[in-house]
Amino acid sequence: MKFKWKRRTYTLLIVPDAAQSVARVRLSNIVVFGALAALAIFVIASLAVYALHLRSIVITQQLRTELTGSSQHYAMTLSDKEQTINQLQNEIIKLSQQTKDMKTRVDEMTKLENDLKSISGKGGAASASGSGSGQAAASGEGSQGGAFVPVSNSQIDELSASTSDTLAQLSQQLTELQSSMSETKQKVLEQQHLLRITPTLYPTMTRTVTSPFGYRIDPINGMPSFHSGIDFGAAAGDDVFATADGTVVSVGKDASHGNNIVISHGQGLKTWYMHLSKSLVSEGDNVTKGQRIGLVGNTGRSTGAHLHYELIQNGKSIDPKPYLQSMKE
Ligand SMILES: [Zn+2]
Repeated sequence: MKFKWKRRTYTLLIVPDAAQSVARVRLSNIVVFGALAALAIFVIASLAVYALHLRSIVITQQLRTELTGSSQHYAMTLSDKEQTINQLQNEIIKLSQQTKDMKTRVDEMTKLENDLKSISGKGGAASASGSGSGQAAASGEGSQGGAFVPVSNSQIDELSASTSDTLAQLSQQLTELQSSMSETKQKVLEQQHLLRITPTLYPTMTRTVTSPFGYRIDPINGMPSFHSGIDFGAAAGDDVFATADGTVVSVGKDASHGNNIVISHGQGLKTWYMHLSKSLVSEGDNVTKGQRIGLVGNTGRSTGAHLHYELIQNGKSIDPKPYLQSMKE
């Protein structure tokens, strides 16, 4: 369409119903184009506003989605943390129960050690150092139940602190137990040694005593005399045993004692074995309790095969019988 810009006028006819007269409005082309331009601007502006509105809706939607997502994330993190805290608190409870059990056991061990100490002699047991708080041992493995009573953080803190205290006590108690036990061990070793060097063993297999220690009528000359040992009615050739650990201090032979052996056991004690048919050890030999040292015989001043066994304490003959009696028959 050709469009020539000229000053023109347009007439707008307004035709009402029936017999009324037609109204005429004369408009210049400037006014018409101005009106059209204004309309176009209005439409464009409306569209722009509408587009902005749409965009804001989309952005709002996006933000809402993001917000929901992150709040879900935080909710999950929070629940994870709560779960972790619950687990840790349960661990503390378990640990405190285990600590209690351990304390009970250590208390029992302390008591046992005290018993051992009193058995091993000498030092009176210093009575279970107030440790036995007598908790019921062993956490029952049976059914459990009861109302649920939630635990506060401060209660857990207290439990944790008391568990830590108990563990410190345990450590101290174990240290004491350790030193006490090594002391007891030392005592037991001493006792063992003492037993080994004490002549408690019978020197022959036979326990038949043909002549005890003490005053008697001499079997050879019939005169009153003192018998300084015990005669065992063993047969010739029977084994003669060292009655305790010791060192052979003499192996000899003379008209009175015949073949004879003297063993020193320390602590001022010696044993003497007489009338042997044969000696099986030499002077200076270390012998052990029960070791075969010679054979029964009838040498020296003797009326028949037997073993004269003598115990000497600090140079004086004493009755060996009480020592022998301390042994189980
Ligand atoms: Zn005798």
